[in-house]
Amino acid sequence: MTLHWTAAAIDGAARAGTLHTAHGEVPTPVFMPVGTAGTIKAMTADAVRSTGARMILGNTYHLMLRPTAERIARLGGLHKFADWHGPILTDSGGFQVMSLAGLRKLDADGVTFQSHIDGSKHRLTPERSIEIQHLLGADVTMCFDECTPFPATEEQAAESMRLSMRWAARSRDAFVARPGHGLFGIVQGSTFAELRAESVAALTAIGFEGYAIGGLAVGEGQEAMFATLDVTTPLLPADRPRYLMGVGTPADIIGAVRRGIDMFDCVIPTRSGRTARAYTSAGQLNLRNARHADDGAPLDASCACPACRNHSRAYLHHLFKCEEMLGPMLLTWHNIAYYQQVTGTLRAAILDGRFEAVATRLEAALDPA
Ligand SMILES: [Zn+2]
Repeated sequence: MTLHWTAAAIDGAARAGTLHTAHGEVPTPVFMPVGTAGTIKAMTADAVRSTGARMILGNTYHLMLRPTAERIARLGGLHKFADWHGPILTDSGGFQVMSLAGLRKLDADGVTFQSHIDGSKHRLTPERSIEIQHLLGADVTMCFDECTPFPATEEQAAESMRLSMRWAARSRDAFVARPGHGLFGIVQGSTFAELRAESVAALTAIGFEGYAIGGLAVGEGQEAMFATLDVTTPLLPADRPRYLMGVGTPADIIGAVRRGIDMFDCVIPTRSGRTARAYTSAGQLNLRNARHADDGAPLDASCACPACRNHSRAYLHHLFKCEEMLGPMLLTWHNIAYYQQVTGTLRAAILDGRFEAVATRLEAALDPA
């Protein structure tokens, strides 16, 4: 059977369910830590597993440049290469080409670009992106698309979205169906409701195992992001998983689950962990701040990760002050563990029919008045 999603409970628009993949089942809502170059930075795969994370993301753009998809395939695929035996979702490379690559040239067929590492020339088309993701062994493959820059005029957003829809059809044709694997379409259209609806109609006419909402978390702000979800999510097929790409803060995730999103990925917990920023059940903390120097309390008393169980805020502050590498390691560990706690708490609340009460309590704790 192909990759699919089953619902366990619906509470309002919030959904709890299970994603069934070739590498196991994933309870949703799920947060996927980002393993850009085949590693969740500063974490061993065992450490990532111990946070409760069940599924990770890999980046086509980074892995096609180094060590190349063909080399990873020769070495047994990304799961083996990275010691990650759960499901992996790979992005299509389109977003990173736009945000990282040097000189790039977009045409109707694909995009030619220079590597940000050594300036070498590469090309991605829908067919090549799908082939790379197949070589990596992705459980969830993403359609190759153009992430519409923000802000964009309605004409620019329409043109970009329609190009992505043509590429979605080509991605579907290029995808090789295997049991437990699936291809997700990506809804584009910037913050324009009519374009989002047109994009959903185009994708559902093609048919995908899941639907992602792309082109958000690119500077539009939380209010515009939620407004776009309000007009987009209700149009998506109820029996398919929904993935909000690149989102977000804990408050973004709570608000998106409320609007019917099942899957998330974001660099925030890992990148913040490396720069001394902690996300906790009582909001954000900067561990570089001198006020933590004498604080013997744990980072988050309600967290059982090694940073919180074994160490004080004072010790974490000391590590960052001395630029010891254990600081980023422990804080990354905590932030990923905390994100897993958030999605796990939301899932339990949906199963209990208490989503709104629990979500409101979490939101109030994150943003104390
Ligand atoms: Zn912790």
